[in-house]
Amino acid sequence: MAVMKFGGTSIGTASAMKRAMLIVAEEKKKKAPLVVLSACSGITNRLIQVAEAAGDSRLAEAMELSGEVREHHRELVDVLINDGERRKAVMEKVETYIGELDMLIKGVDIVGELTARSFDTFCSFGELLSTTIFSEAMQEAGHGTVWQDIREVMITDDNFSSARPLEALCEKNVKNTLKPLLEQGNIVVTQGFIGSTRDGKTTTLGRGGSDFTAALLGAWLPSDEIQIWTDVDGVMTCDPRVVPDARSIRVMTFTEAAELSYLGAKVLHPDTIAPAVKQNIPVYVLNSLHPETRGTVITDNPAILEGMSYGGLVKSIAVKKGQCIINFRSNRMLGRHGFMANIFDEFARAGVSVEMISTSEVSVSLTVSESASLEELLVELRKMGEVDIEPDVATISVVGDNLRASKGVAGRIFSALKDVNIRMISQGASEINVGFVVEGQDVSKAVQNLHHEFFSDSETSGIFESPMKRHQ
Ligand code: ASP
Ligand code: MG
Repeated sequence: MAVMKFGGTSIGTASAMKRAMLIVAEEKKKKAPLVVLSACSGITNRLIQVAEAAGDSRLAEAMELSGEVREHHRELVDVLINDGERRKAVMEKVETYIGELDMLIKGVDIVGELTARSFDTFCSFGELLSTTIFSEAMQEAGHGTVWQDIREVMITDDNFSSARPLEALCEKNVKNTLKPLLEQGNIVVTQGFIGSTRDGKTTTLGRGGSDFTAALLGAWLPSDEIQIWTDVDGVMTCDPRVVPDARSIRVMTFTEAAELSYLGAKVLHPDTIAPAVKQNIPVYVLNSLHPETRGTVITDNPAILEGMSYGGLVKSIAVKKGQCIINFRSNRMLGRHGFMANIFDEFARAGVSVEMISTSEVSVSLTVSESASLEELLVELRKMGEVDIEPDVATISVVGDNLRASKGVAGRIFSALKDVNIRMISQGASEINVGFVVEGQDVSKAVQNLHHEFFSDSETSGIFESPMKRHQ
């Protein structure tokens, strides 16, 4: 049985919801799945604006925004639910949620303070609304469907906005509640992202938390696979906006996915799927606009990796723009110990996070995000040595498990980059990535040349796919 998670763009409009419904119905032919939904795209952001407006006593604005949330969902009901009786009943459910939202707005406005606890309650309405409509539409279309309030299952600590599940309790709840419903052949539709404390206060797992919900539920059931439905063709060989012939990667290991997302690629955040990977449950990243394509499977399971001709030297190229290099140089570093520790102490004190490092005996270069506030840090570093800054650079990382065991990769990378001014080079300790820094203006050229070098057809036949049937 599968856990199917749909992100906001895959259910954000009536036509997107219809596509998602067909995908779920197709899956049900094999076995009734557990469906985990995000809020419709844009709704969580809207609810956050509502919360902030209420907390600031901008009551009229909060009510107006709440009206927009209401309208969006009423329109969905209008299009998706055909039967008059049912439509009336679903509209009433929508009105009940919006009524609760409006009461919360007024409460927060009167108290004059937005607490972490009420903030999470504000955020929870998006998922409650999307799942209510989806589940009713599925039911109407004749697919036995049960709506489940996940707050009865996903019991968390009280770290509002980044709550963590009480695992043993949740697992028990999943086995007692969700599992029997699924085994009886029901599609179960439930909310991602939200949970509840033991004493019934609504919590959230943090922005983008629906993927985490799906992985956790999949691990507790356990499910055979987890499908993350988005609006892109799985994980790509690189950003298609930079290289138009970027392709979707068929299979990648968990380490590769993790490394890529740390390095700036828009992949699932690895922590969110860790519960599934730990149990060897494959995670598919799929496109609800092209459900027939295979997407990407992330797994460490050797049988799946083998079966999908796992290989290829480079798996993907990640780019992180908006970086800046700090070059530090001091002759006093020569033969001294403790100097690096002092430098990094200053970064720690200033709260500036270091991304890439490269050193020699008397100098060290580091990249940091351009948005970091560097003034105080630079004053302190200048007391220890010479410092200069190179703004507007980007880190480019070439990632692949097989880099570890291959010769000549560096040569190929750097010959592909012969026309580019490389500002810094570093090979990660994981040995599955080679990273370097280029000037902002050179990013496109550098990435295109690299993509051409490593993803030409002879290089990758059978490993990267243009669209293909998933279940053939
Ligand atoms: N709706 C939530 C958010 O926008 C959770 C999610 O989409 O995963 O952050
Ligand atoms: Mg998301």
